Amino acid sequence: MAIDFSVEPEFQEQLDWIREFVDTEAVPIDLAFADQERVHDKSHPLHDEVIRPLQEKVKARGLWACHLGPDLGGLGYGQTKLALMNEILGRSGWAPSLFGCQAPDSGNAEIIAHYGSDDQKEMYLAPLLDGKISSCYSMTEPQGGADPSVFECRAYRDGDDWIIDGEKWFSSSLGWSKFAIVMAVSNPDVPIYQGASMFLVPTDTPGIEIRREVGMAHEAIGQGGHPYVRYDKVRVPKENLLGGEGQAFKIAQTRLGGGRLHHAMRTVGSVRRLLDMMAERAISRVTKGSLLADKQGVQEMLGRTWLDLQQFRLLVLHAAWTVDQVGGAAARTEIAAVKVATPQVYTDAAYRCMRLHGALGVSNEMPIANLWLMGASLGLADGPSEVHMTTIAKHVLKNVEPSKTGWPSEHLPERREAARKRFAHLLEHEMGNA
Ligand SMILES: Cc1cc2nc3c(=O)[nH]c(=O)nc-3n(C[C@H](O)[C@H](O)[C@H](O)COP(=O)(O)OP(=O)(O)OC[C@H]3O[C@@H](n4cnc5c(N)ncnc54)[C@H](O)[C@@H]3O)c2cc1C
Repeated sequence: MAIDFSVEPEFQEQLDWIREFVDTEAVPIDLAFADQERVHDKSHPLHDEVIRPLQEKVKARGLWACHLGPDLGGLGYGQTKLALMNEILGRSGWAPSLFGCQAPDSGNAEIIAHYGSDDQKEMYLAPLLDGKISSCYSMTEPQGGADPSVFECRAYRDGDDWIIDGEKWFSSSLGWSKFAIVMAVSNPDVPIYQGASMFLVPTDTPGIEIRREVGMAHEAIGQGGHPYVRYDKVRVPKENLLGGEGQAFKIAQTRLGGGRLHHAMRTVGSVRRLLDMMAERAISRVTKGSLLADKQGVQEMLGRTWLDLQQFRLLVLHAAWTVDQVGGAAARTEIAAVKVATPQVYTDAAYRCMRLHGALGVSNEMPIANLWLMGASLGLADGPSEVHMTTIAKHVLKNVEPSKTGWPSEHLPERREAARKRFAHLLEHEMGNA
């Protein structure tokens, strides 16, 4: 048996290069172009002038789209290596774009690679992998996200075409995307898990109406990247069905496993950044005659954040290692645990960091409040934490037998009685001596 936390020297060299590259190249882009519109709008001159040359450097270093297999131009890194890499990418909002693993494109690329026909791969996957276009994943509906059984968006056949009719909500980055992967009910007569299909829908198809731009809390009304959209009898050829009819949920699972771990490891990077901010503040600010770092309450915040970070990092690395050993499906519980822990650790760290920075912390002159909100979003995107907690609970309850006596099996009187019987001769001796 070997438990080894060391990193091979060659890979450590790559990680060192990534860290340097992220700090010197990605972070300045974050500061100048913070909004996600620029990330997804590939027609913006920033992409040709700045982003593509940097992506070329990443490719030359052999670090482009490492989550993909070699047949698709990636390195087929296992999840453990990807985790260590994403930990560094988490320090910058732009870094994933520079390394070809920007959500939702990375997940969308994965499912087209897995389930797409040759034509679909040529038309959608190739330019996506090249970083030339953006894509959207359109599943959640206004009346329900966590419970797909309430989905209403329909897809029905009309000759050689499929017609998609219904509404979606929080279809992130749709406005800048060349195509959306839309989930729709193709057979309402069976349970949704067998009756929903996925479609590749070019965004210039007639009938796609953005009803309202929806933004995060810090964005102005009418701005933001998560639109409420109506697919008004949108017609696509039958060749645009992704995978088989009724396979939407099988496909969705392929998309989310690795992505959840990558988000989590980027969160490790973000939390480390928050801890760095906290530490600097603690040794810079004097109040009531001493540094914040000297106050016990502040030490509690620093220690607690370090502890949370360390525990969380190990949880994610262990989940990544488990996926590498047994595959994503068999590591469902580990992935669910990571998904639950991610927003918790993130929001706790961001909240403490905000407090340590006082008014500055909640202001728009520090990134902390936005990170806090991002942490809260991570508890919803890809499904709410409560649903993932149910997965963990089911695992805990698996193979557990109910008590046969009506008393818990750890109930002391029965256990003590049985133990006393077993040691009766010694207990009598003890009594005799007393
Ligand atoms: C930043 C961001 C980006 C997103 N991007 C996309 C995207 O690109 N494409 C897309 O399709 N969707 C996207 N979503 C939507 C996301 O997938 C949904 O928000 C999520 O699935 C939850 O659905 P809901 O918002 O309708 O909440 P609901 O389903 O209404 O759930 C609300 C709350 O009810 C509780 N709850 C729900 N179900 C259970 C349960 N079974 N047990 C216990 N408690 C429960 C939880 O507290 C949950 O938070 C995004 C969301 C965010 C915040």
